Amino acid sequence: MTEVQNFIDGSFVPAKGGEVLANLCPATGQPIARIARSKMADVDAAVTAATAAAAQWRRTSVEERAELLERIADAIAKHAPRLAALESQDQGKPVSLAAAVDIPRAEQNFRFFAGAIRHDHTDFHPMETAFNYTLRRPVGVVGLITPWNLPLYLLTWKVAPALAMGNAIVAKASELTPMTANALAGIFQEIDAPKGLFNLVHGLGPEAGQAIVEHPGIKGISFTGGTATGQRVAATAAPLFKKLSLELGGKNPTIVFADCDFEKAVDGAARAGFANQGEICLCGSRILVERSIHDRFLGALVDKVSGMKVGDPSDRNTQVGALVSEAHRQKVESYVRLGVEEGGRLCCGGTRPELPAPFDGGFFLKPAILAGLDPECRTSTEEIFGPVVTVHPFDTEEEALRIANGVRYGLAASLWTGNLSRAHRMAAEIDTGMVWVNTWLLRDLRVPFGGMKDSGVGREGGRYSMEFFSESRNICISF
Ligand code: NDP
Repeated sequence: MTEVQNFIDGSFVPAKGGEVLANLCPATGQPIARIARSKMADVDAAVTAATAAAAQWRRTSVEERAELLERIADAIAKHAPRLAALESQDQGKPVSLAAAVDIPRAEQNFRFFAGAIRHDHTDFHPMETAFNYTLRRPVGVVGLITPWNLPLYLLTWKVAPALAMGNAIVAKASELTPMTANALAGIFQEIDAPKGLFNLVHGLGPEAGQAIVEHPGIKGISFTGGTATGQRVAATAAPLFKKLSLELGGKNPTIVFADCDFEKAVDGAARAGFANQGEICLCGSRILVERSIHDRFLGALVDKVSGMKVGDPSDRNTQVGALVSEAHRQKVESYVRLGVEEGGRLCCGGTRPELPAPFDGGFFLKPAILAGLDPECRTSTEEIFGPVVTVHPFDTEEEALRIANGVRYGLAASLWTGNLSRAHRMAAEIDTGMVWVNTWLLRDLRVPFGGMKDSGVGREGGRYSMEFFSESRNICISF
């Protein structure tokens, strides 16, 4: 049983109140760790440490900051197999996915921002009798709050640019998946990073998370999580005038035209629908298919998805692991039932697989496809965040657009077509922050990442993250 303690001022410490929470392994339902249940007093200690560290760190050179980021990246690479196993055990995802995506991406996040600050430049605006240049100064102490679906990947996506721009951090991972955040804290200790630069408080969102958002010493909040939580975070942070970035939920369309590369589109829709058990904000959970190929496409998708191997996440052949918690599995199952009540046809999955011990205690669910639903019903428009997709026919581009845009979310979309003009036309009209054409989740870390509508406010990635984690200051010099 691992003891997951807070990491404050370079040391691991228990929560001041001495309380702990149990952390379960999703694949077995068994406890694997006890984690600190932090409150405002713990956050306050973290902010004190971060404030002192920020005062030093803001004066360091670009080279010094880039070198620290590279040392963290090197340590992640060194521990990669252990981190992948830990992420899989804690989150339920297949270890093959953690080893191929989550952990390499965490390493890359640090390398990327080390390079980005080395090659950064700021604006210069000449006038007739003066010139202006822009300085980017650190925000100070920033609060980073991350969800349970891509624990280390999403935490490092914020930690790296925050440090690169000269800030100190108070972070909170989801209490469902604290293990790799804890390991990252261990890496800061191992490489002897300046104390207080990265502080981690564990615990419940409404306690530790809320305390971070409320704390007056924290000047910026970068939050990734659900839309309802995002609303609470925004309502708390707005009157305090904190910088705020919100990456929230999605109900992303995968739009398949009859002129697509059929096999590629089936593979792409299956991957977009079920990668990481459908627990990725970018997952394509609404599949819109041009009517002339709808039945053939649905048949091919059902064949592919019913053949997916569900089970032990540590088995390299597993394609669908366990859902993160029993509560989440029950929520996903309730949507499968709702889909059937709303008139949908369950084409495959949606039931619990029979697995041998110890996995019979895990939170598994077979990947489900629902067809025949009204695109405006609850199942088709609410975020499920699990291995469930709905498939809908459409006749025209206009209808596909209307369905695609007919939800409160606007995070991402993928289009599958051989017609380049159509791809440009559609991409310009879909109300999402990101559109992929003939691919899904192909990421360049320089590009803007984020959503519109109820999917969030602001963008992360490359210079967007660097701008968020800094204050632009104009200096005007008269000749
Ligand atoms: P939640 O919104 O429940 O939680 C996100 C984080 O916020 C967790 O660390 C949580 O802590 C914390 N939290 C909860 N309540 C508060 C509060 N009042 N104040 C401050 N922090 C709080 O999301 P999930 O963890 O369930 O993650 C799934 C959601 O995240 C989905 O909606 C998904 O779409 C979205 N997401 C969005 C992404 C994007 O980039 N747009 C990427 C990945 C996920 P705790 O868990 O300990 O309660």
